[in-house]
Amino acid sequence: MALFDTHFHYYGAVKPSEYYDRAAGFGVKYLLAAGSTLEESRRSMQFAEEIENSWFSCGIHPHEAEKAGNNPASAFEEFRKHQKLAAIGEIGLDYFYEHSERKIQRKVFGEFLKTALDWKRPAIVHCRDKDDSYDAYSDSFDILKDFSSGGGRFVVHCFAGDTAWAEKFLELGAFLGITGIVTFPKAVNIRETLKVIPMERLLLETDTPYLAPIPYRGKENHSAYLVETAKKTAEEKNLSLDEISSITTANAFKFFSSIKKG
Ligand SMILES: [Zn+2]
Repeated sequence: MALFDTHFHYYGAVKPSEYYDRAAGFGVKYLLAAGSTLEESRRSMQFAEEIENSWFSCGIHPHEAEKAGNNPASAFEEFRKHQKLAAIGEIGLDYFYEHSERKIQRKVFGEFLKTALDWKRPAIVHCRDKDDSYDAYSDSFDILKDFSSGGGRFVVHCFAGDTAWAEKFLELGAFLGITGIVTFPKAVNIRETLKVIPMERLLLETDTPYLAPIPYRGKENHSAYLVETAKKTAEEKNLSLDEISSITTANAFKFFSSIKKG
């Protein structure tokens, strides 16, 4: 078994080799360290430089959009030619916390999507709404519609919307990222959504350090725990763990098309 954790955050608490060995011990052999600030993008890059079967992404999380300045993507030029840069992100819209003004979030999101097109990399999209509204989904959809018609490819990471929104994004060619939430008893919507996601559009991720799956819920997450998310996803899709593993890992290599196995 060789699972791919397509989204984790590396904080440097343990050495990259120690982090990787623990994940690999559980069958999680491929990792993508996501960048949500310039600083984290650099740290993720260093992780990827040290660990053969790992890659990184760079971007500015919507929480940080207000601090991004006028020409946010220009500070990221240093990553452009890096062989281990697999994607741009995480970028997107967060209307739940709304740490940054919505208008600014949309501007920064748009700029990084332009970068993704210029650099020929897929985008990792964060999309979160206030509980009673779908404004972030609706605004993201409009922005991503242009991106995908321009040839852009994206994943809605940690997808938490409903079936109707999943179908809309799937029509744009989206991949959808499934996290440990799928194991939570109350997450009926995610398990319902899983039914409409075609197998070839499914990616697995931990979003470490958040969202540890059952039986680790409440603890700090780790890429190693992806195996629990994979087991639950396999059960919901009526597949074996090995099948879900080989399908979602192949999907990840297809999605991050610029990377190759070591
Ligand atoms: Zn994340």
